Amino acid sequence: MESNDYNDPSVIGGCSVPVRVNRKSKPDPTIVEINGIRFGSSFVAIIAGPCAVENLEQLTETARKVKAAGAVVLRGGAFKPRSSPYNFQGLGEEGVKMLWKIGRETGMPIVTEVMDTRQVNLVAEYADMIQIGSRNMQNYPLLKEVGMLRKPILLKRGMMATIEEFLLAAEYILSQGNEQVVLCERGIRTFETTTRNTLDLSAVPMLKHLCHLPVIVDPSHGTGHRWMVPTMAKAAVAAGADGLIMEVHYKPEEALCDGHQSLSPNEFTGLMSDLKKIAQAVGRDIY
Ligand code: PEP
Ligand code: MN
Repeated sequence: MESNDYNDPSVIGGCSVPVRVNRKSKPDPTIVEINGIRFGSSFVAIIAGPCAVENLEQLTETARKVKAAGAVVLRGGAFKPRSSPYNFQGLGEEGVKMLWKIGRETGMPIVTEVMDTRQVNLVAEYADMIQIGSRNMQNYPLLKEVGMLRKPILLKRGMMATIEEFLLAAEYILSQGNEQVVLCERGIRTFETTTRNTLDLSAVPMLKHLCHLPVIVDPSHGTGHRWMVPTMAKAAVAAGADGLIMEVHYKPEEALCDGHQSLSPNEFTGLMSDLKKIAQAVGRDIY
C-alpha cells in the first residue's frame, strides 16, 4: 500500500517530517544546553547583542548593558552576510576573538555566524554556539560540516524556505551526529513591503508540533523596525518560543549594520521586564 498522511508515521499534517527531527521518533523535547542555559526547558532564553561586532568599545558597552538587563547569551556577527559587497563585511577572525574575550569578561556564552566551511574550525574554537544564517540554510556542505561538530547550532530559517525545507536542513545537521540544534524563525519573504520580512509566528507552534527541537524567534530581522521589535518579541513568547535573539546596540544611530532594527539598551531593559510577565502568563519564566 502506498503511504499517505494517515499511515506514514513521518507525515504530520501534510508535512513530510524527516526521521531524526520528527517528534514521533522522539516525543520528549530536546534540550540544547550552553553553559547551563537550557534551550527547550520551561525557561525562555534571551540572546542579545549587536548585529555586527564593530570595535571593542561598542561590543563591551553593549554586552555589559544586555547582561545587566538579563540576556543570557551574547550575539554578534564577525563574518557578515551583506547584500552589497561594498558594505561593512565584519571584522572576521578579529571579531570572533573579540566576542570570545567580551563573552568571558561579562560571563556570557557567545553565538556567531559561519558562512563558509573554511571558517568552521576557527569559529568552533571560540564560539559556544554556531549560527547558520538564513542565506545559508540550504548550504548543504556547510550544514554537514557543522553536523560533524559536537557544539550547539543555531539554524535560522531560510527567507524563502518552507517549514519542510527548514526541517530538512536541520535533518542534515542531525544526520551527521550533531543533535544540538536550535531552530530560529526570522521572517520570510512575502509580497509585503512595509516590513523587512514577514515574521511567521505560526511557525513556532507548527515546528514544535512537528519536531522535538527548541524553537526561538528573531523579531529584529523579522520586522526590520526597532519600534516593532518589543511587540513581536512579546507575541513570540506568547506563541511558545523557547527563546529570542535580538539586536541591541549601545548607540543604534551609529551602528554599521542594522541600526534601524536594533534596540537601545534602555528599550531592551524595558522589554525584558514585560517579557517576564508574558512568560509567566503562559506558564514559563525568563532566565
Ligand atoms: C544575523 O542574525 O546576524 C543575520 C544576518 O540574520 P539572518 O541570517 O536571519 O538574516
Ligand atoms: Mn542584522
